[in-house]
Amino acid sequence: MNHPLQAYESVVGPQVIYELRLLAERTKGWTVRNINSTAVGGGVAEILNRMNPLLQELGINARWDVIKGGEKFFKVTKKFHNALHGKEECFSEEDFAVFLENNEINANSLDLSGEVLFIHDPQPIGLINRKDSVNSKWLWRCHIDVSNPNPQVWNFLLPFINRYHSAVFSAPSFSQKLLIPQALISPSIDPLSDKNKDLPEDVIQRILERFRIDPGKPIVTQISRFDYLKDPVGVIDAFEMVQRYVDCQLILAGGEATDDPESAEVLAKVRDRAANNPDIHVLAIPSGSDLEINALQRASAVVVQKSLKEGFGLTVSEALWKGRPMVASAVGGITLQITHKYSGLLCHSIEGAAHAIKQLLQNPDYAKKLGENGKEHIRQNFLLTRHLRDYLLLFLSLYREGDIIHL
Ligand code: UDP
Repeated sequence: MNHPLQAYESVVGPQVIYELRLLAERTKGWTVRNINSTAVGGGVAEILNRMNPLLQELGINARWDVIKGGEKFFKVTKKFHNALHGKEECFSEEDFAVFLENNEINANSLDLSGEVLFIHDPQPIGLINRKDSVNSKWLWRCHIDVSNPNPQVWNFLLPFINRYHSAVFSAPSFSQKLLIPQALISPSIDPLSDKNKDLPEDVIQRILERFRIDPGKPIVTQISRFDYLKDPVGVIDAFEMVQRYVDCQLILAGGEATDDPESAEVLAKVRDRAANNPDIHVLAIPSGSDLEINALQRASAVVVQKSLKEGFGLTVSEALWKGRPMVASAVGGITLQITHKYSGLLCHSIEGAAHAIKQLLQNPDYAKKLGENGKEHIRQNFLLTRHLRDYLLLFLSLYREGDIIHL
């Protein structure tokens, strides 16, 4: 369920809401067309679902289209994704041809009108080839940590990126040498969504029961798509080290994204690895399991995000917003969300993660304090209203004096 803007006043105060309305007076009637590659699974879909209704309430015709593609295309784009995160990948001429052909097919079928075309991540980046045939401003929104990209794929993408009017990255360390202006805007969570709203204790207990989880034993949880870069097997390794000292249980919960062909294979490996340990619950949850994710995070003594690479890591903000003590890898946007030993514990290895989880399980007062600090940090920096404000300012910055804008 989505809430009207006014409802956020109770979380962020009246000034923030007033400012949003004031800014939006200048973008009334604009069409902002978001284009990405999946309607479900992952942070991009999560944000668009929450952001668009508020933009619409503010008078912006916020649209969202998803490009189409077959298995071959998504295999190539998953390789792009991994390679942009720095993974060794080898690309053939055919890979690039498949990518370009698919972008061309989508460009022919998508409506590309509107004041702002907001293209998310590399999958639809080639739509910029239509730049000269439409009268829009083009934004490329990169949600990936591209601080150390594979040069072959980066050099392939660069000529596309440089034709956009502006690029948006999630963290300062991701910015790159580009010929176009860059904005740094971190993602956000919606404090009023089913995934993040307060939940009564009985709802949490019922959900635990449904998943056959013992509420009496401390729970360690990681919520993530089943993706190698989220290192679910590394989480199991760390958890089993902790188990030698503390009687606890692990939940690995996640679903699939329609643009990720690897997830079934990762899930199978995780199931195999966890098979002999009755304290590990591997939960394949369908998309839209927001209340379930909310409850699992709230029921956890420690929430883990042991990613090997991370764009931003919305799951970190989600857990911190619930005041949960976190152990997370010091990668990508996670370091914007967690200050080590202040709002969570950062780790760099399986052993480091195990040590931190054990420390939090054995020191509940310390864990509680970290969770409280984390929540306040999210309130100040990573809620949807701040994100909305950044986007409105970004849209306005695209139209400078001399350009036609609807005022
Ligand atoms: N998520 C979900 N169901 C799942 C796994 C994840 O709804 O099975 C959500 C999660 O709660 C978060 C988002 O998907 O809101 C994941 O965003 P994040 O930035 O953490 O990672 P990404 O998947 O984009 O790499």
